[in-house]
Amino acid sequence: MERDCIFCLIAGHRAPAAILYEDDRCVVFRDSSPQAPVHLLVVPRRHVASLNEALDGDAALLGHLVAVAGRAARDQGVGGTGYRVVINTNREAGQTVGHLHLHVLGGRLFGWPPG
Ligand code: 5GP
Ligand code: ZN
Repeated sequence: MERDCIFCLIAGHRAPAAILYEDDRCVVFRDSSPQAPVHLLVVPRRHVASLNEALDGDAALLGHLVAVAGRAARDQGVGGTGYRVVINTNREAGQTVGHLHLHVLGGRLFGWPPG
């Protein structure tokens, strides 16, 4: 728990968010500035600053986060039409919150390559 980390605060129910799912390892909530009709964030409860800080020992956690992302997308009804799971890492990729998170985006057509 990092005191000034907004995602630690949300995971600890100390800051508000539209939480859709949570378990002992992660929390799923709606992005407050959605970039698609479905835009969720999957966040580990443990403070991990970015994918760079994830360790080999975190493989099970990372797998769990991806599995939860897929289930959340299906639950939101975009499993059939399609969705994207994105982990922005550091400045040039556009990471703005220093707590690892998976974006789940769906409900519209996405371009490739991403901007
Ligand atoms: P990043 O740019 O780091 O990949 O993604 C951070 C995401 O977190 C952004 O899409 C941003 O809209 C979202 N975000 C930032 N602060 C909050 C917040 O306090 N609550 C929620 N629900 N989302 C947030
Ligand atoms: Zn944190």
